[in-house]
Amino acid sequence: MNVNQSAPPVPPYGQPQPVYPGHHQSSYGGQPGSTAPPNPYGVYNGPVPGYQQTPPPGVSRAPPSSGVPPASTAQVPCGQGAYGQFGQGDVQNGPSSTVQMQRLPGSQPFGSAPLAPVVSQPAVLQPYGPPPTSAQVTAQLAGMQISGSVNPAPPPSGLGYGPPTSLASASGSFPNSGLYGSCPQGQAPPLSQAQGHSGAQPPQRSAPQQASSFTPQASGGPRMPSMTGPLLPGQSFGGPPVNQPNHVSSPPPQALHPGTQMAGPPGPPPPMHSSQQQGYQLQQNGSFGPARGPQPNYGSPYPGAPAFGSQPGPPQSLPPKRLDPDAIPSPQLNELPPQQKTRHRIDPDAIPSPIQVIEDDRNNRGSEPFVTGVRGQVPPLVTTNFLVKDQGNASPRYIRCTSYNIPCTSDMAKQAQVPLAAVIKPLARLPPEEASPYLVDHGESGPLRCNRCKAYMCPFMQFVEGGRRFQCCFCSCINDVPPQYFQHLDHTGKRVDAYDRPELSLGSYEFLATVDYCKNNKFPSPPAFIFMIDVSYNAIRSGLVRLLCEELKSLLDFLPREGGAEESAIRVGFVTYNKVLHFYNVKSSLAQPQMMVVSDVADMFVPLLDGFLVNVNESRAVIISLLDQIPEMFADTRETETVFAPVIQAGMEALKAAECAGKLFIFHTSLPIAEAPGKLKNRDDRKLINTDKEKTLFQPQTGAYQALAKECVAQGCCVDLFLFPNQYVDVATLSVVPQLTGGSVYKYACFQVENDQERFMSDLRRDVEKVVGFDAVMRVRTSTGIRAVDFFGAFYMSNTTDVELAGLDGEKTVTVEFKHDDRLNEESGALLQCALLYTSCAGQRRLRIHNLALNCCTQLADLYRNCETDTLINYMAKFAYRGVLNSPVKTVRDTLITQCAQILACYRKNCASPSSAGQLILPECMKLLPVYLNCVLKSDVLQPGAEVTTDDRAYVRQLVTSMDVAETNVFFYPRLLPLTKSPIESTTEPPAIRASEERLSNGDIYLLENGLNLFIWVGAGVQQGVVQSLFSVSSFSQITSGLSILPVLDNPLSKKVRGLIDSLRAQRSRYMKLIVVKQEDKLEMLFKHFLVEDKSLSGGASYVDFLCHMHKEIRQLLS
Ligand SMILES: [Zn+2]
Repeated sequence: MNVNQSAPPVPPYGQPQPVYPGHHQSSYGGQPGSTAPPNPYGVYNGPVPGYQQTPPPGVSRAPPSSGVPPASTAQVPCGQGAYGQFGQGDVQNGPSSTVQMQRLPGSQPFGSAPLAPVVSQPAVLQPYGPPPTSAQVTAQLAGMQISGSVNPAPPPSGLGYGPPTSLASASGSFPNSGLYGSCPQGQAPPLSQAQGHSGAQPPQRSAPQQASSFTPQASGGPRMPSMTGPLLPGQSFGGPPVNQPNHVSSPPPQALHPGTQMAGPPGPPPPMHSSQQQGYQLQQNGSFGPARGPQPNYGSPYPGAPAFGSQPGPPQSLPPKRLDPDAIPSPQLNELPPQQKTRHRIDPDAIPSPIQVIEDDRNNRGSEPFVTGVRGQVPPLVTTNFLVKDQGNASPRYIRCTSYNIPCTSDMAKQAQVPLAAVIKPLARLPPEEASPYLVDHGESGPLRCNRCKAYMCPFMQFVEGGRRFQCCFCSCINDVPPQYFQHLDHTGKRVDAYDRPELSLGSYEFLATVDYCKNNKFPSPPAFIFMIDVSYNAIRSGLVRLLCEELKSLLDFLPREGGAEESAIRVGFVTYNKVLHFYNVKSSLAQPQMMVVSDVADMFVPLLDGFLVNVNESRAVIISLLDQIPEMFADTRETETVFAPVIQAGMEALKAAECAGKLFIFHTSLPIAEAPGKLKNRDDRKLINTDKEKTLFQPQTGAYQALAKECVAQGCCVDLFLFPNQYVDVATLSVVPQLTGGSVYKYACFQVENDQERFMSDLRRDVEKVVGFDAVMRVRTSTGIRAVDFFGAFYMSNTTDVELAGLDGEKTVTVEFKHDDRLNEESGALLQCALLYTSCAGQRRLRIHNLALNCCTQLADLYRNCETDTLINYMAKFAYRGVLNSPVKTVRDTLITQCAQILACYRKNCASPSSAGQLILPECMKLLPVYLNCVLKSDVLQPGAEVTTDDRAYVRQLVTSMDVAETNVFFYPRLLPLTKSPIESTTEPPAIRASEERLSNGDIYLLENGLNLFIWVGAGVQQGVVQSLFSVSSFSQITSGLSILPVLDNPLSKKVRGLIDSLRAQRSRYMKLIVVKQEDKLEMLFKHFLVEDKSLSGGASYVDFLCHMHKEIRQLLS
């Protein structure tokens, strides 16, 4: 084996090439590739309208002006007042100042939010179509309690955690009475929960057969410490099936536990204790009262839906070890004041907790490396830190699947409705402890492939006939082994050199590509970066141009390098623009840079070749000079109009002329209204929201950008767009080219240097430095029986199989959906092979191969046991976010809910043991599906609040499209960390708590992050000493609301918090700007938007309400 790290021979590069043999653009007017003429631009003089040879800059040379900047442009506005300055582009749901944040009457800040029903009903249910009355939903699950098929219920945790007895105010504007202060236990809901489980409980995620179920109960909801149960040992343990009653494959006969029968209805459960009704003001609205099971008139509010009442109750028998509320001491229940009991008929602690699931997985799977040698293993969660050992299957860092056990037939798959998808991140960055894929060089013959299906050699290929031939694992074709690749087999039929060859023993590796894999049968030149800077009035005024030019000087030393290369092979070029474009000649031999202006933007061409793309080290002095001069040259500009499509066109033409792939970094501020191709108009119209035309807000307003993107992809021209809008810029249209070329979009609304500098600089640095594969094509091959049918992500497809990416970085994912086209077979399983052909940043053409083997099943239970909810949500979010381009948003939401209900109903019907219809039973692996799905449904794209702009929605939509599983996970369910609860000396990250207001205590400080936003929430009752240590002011009232930088103070708390923020930022691919929010402050609404378990201002359901709704949907399907 030759693991060759050296580059193949490539044409000389790095210097201005005197001749461009291949260039034949018409723009050059038929001028032959001139042979480095002394005046290469001469040809453009005269004949080309709009072209002006210009004197060296430095001479003050302001571009032509097209008018005085309107005052409005100058001063405005972010439309969002105070929020704008916080970059609402990322804070997708900044409240508008007119929205009043009101707690719902009847709701309480502690514990009762989910049941805040009456008032909230219409809004809560609105997304689901005909709303049931509040009575129905709440009654149905009233007292829904978890009876996870768990082992001995952990002792009710956290006595102190019950809702505060003294809570009086139900309306939420944080009366000073200290709503939070009255909750002594505010200290830690989550903690108590965690404690309740730790130790005794086995890992739940590894308990494949375990199901979680909820049983309506009569009493007001003993606070069960969450449903997580015991854990079953991992699949490999073959542990006792005690807790596995819910699968047909493991009937739990003996298990029926008489004591559990109470659970449930089919009949109405016993009435609540009358005492519980005291003070429950919602009662008269019907939301309170005897918890009812199915009832005859249940279905009436849902026209057309089958009535539940007519359905005979299912068998009463229950699986063993369900939690029996009556059988378990529930001290804290007894301690609750009556009103609290009633309000907790559904105990938020008793429904599946994301925090608990994450914690359990960390505890159970974080310590051992994940070894990929076994087919169909479900990897640890993305939230768990673990090491991966590649023993033949691709690391989950490269590929994650919605299920690792695929139904054998399409009928089964249709029945279950579980999407079969893989989220692939071909160039994922690995932690330092894990080795990058080996590079294999098969010499001139290139990588060995199957003759028929073209799959690449991999560990699953079977060598036969003594090693002279191999049978393709994808198509079964028998292929000859080329003589130079021949090797003997051992007694097991394995090649004796298997472990010496990455392609025979590893899941992921690279091949050096031969010239056959290159465009025009020619090895590629190294890529180029072109920086294209808007120098219109807004860009100058905000300080952006000066900041950017300053930063670029140092940034150019950090261009991506390959391996141990001393300097980057990437060449750079510079363009500035407003309604005309300015190209710069920065050839090393010049004393000063030269500017060429192209004002004929309708027919874009590149006025110079030699000297435009240069090696940084060679031209450093000229580049520095240019970057010094740009801000001065345009300092007095009054030009407010910009073009956009011609900018991309120019960059792409420049790469074409240089015959290389590359990336454009475009820094742009406004809607391109100047007369030019791709000119846009302001078509923002919020009145379209919730109409059939809402989809047009997500669609580009002209097809020009798709056409341009197609040309870019053909050239390997990737576009990264940095937007600095003060108002609507039509992100939906401007992001088309970045999206289709594998690029990224960054948005800094109302950019101001002082506020946004750090974030922009950090993003830019990371974006420039990151390793990118250029001019890439990805193909996913599968073994017979399934095939890739649909793709989601930032790329272009010109046929049904090849994913084309002008650029692909280590953060972008492609989600691929599979469908059956034949029967699969349990014995052989199913194989995926993802092959990515790309050009490295040094210009080397390579193939990266990832292989993954999955199991196949004939029992649905096996499917449900091997699913990954985080990956399912990634797929579902992308599916929905693409759906809004073509369908009304409501239709998209309904589709998701229906699919989710079908998935869970199928499990209930086919895999769970018989139980009361009043029970909600969820597969263990999917018990978080409802809570996560609800977060997707109420996200800004699918259910925007009044303050979310059209651009924000388009921006988030395209961001999510390329997110990996970890990113969608935290984006939809943010991480909320208490900062002041754990001992100051503790060095570990504080344990997260659930994203709900009732988990906050006003005596504490919390940090919330979702991968894009970072908040610190300060409770009004925080001790002065803490305030002083963190903010260097003497009291809560002196803390500046909206603060974005914590003072650097020399005390343990300050160091700890700032350290935590740094570490969180390092984990995310984009810089998260900090916003300090004070309790009761106006900005708090912004923060509350991210408390996703609560009902949202835009009408999104609370977790509890949504769970009730899902339960109803499931029951309808089952009836
Ligand atoms: Zn084949």
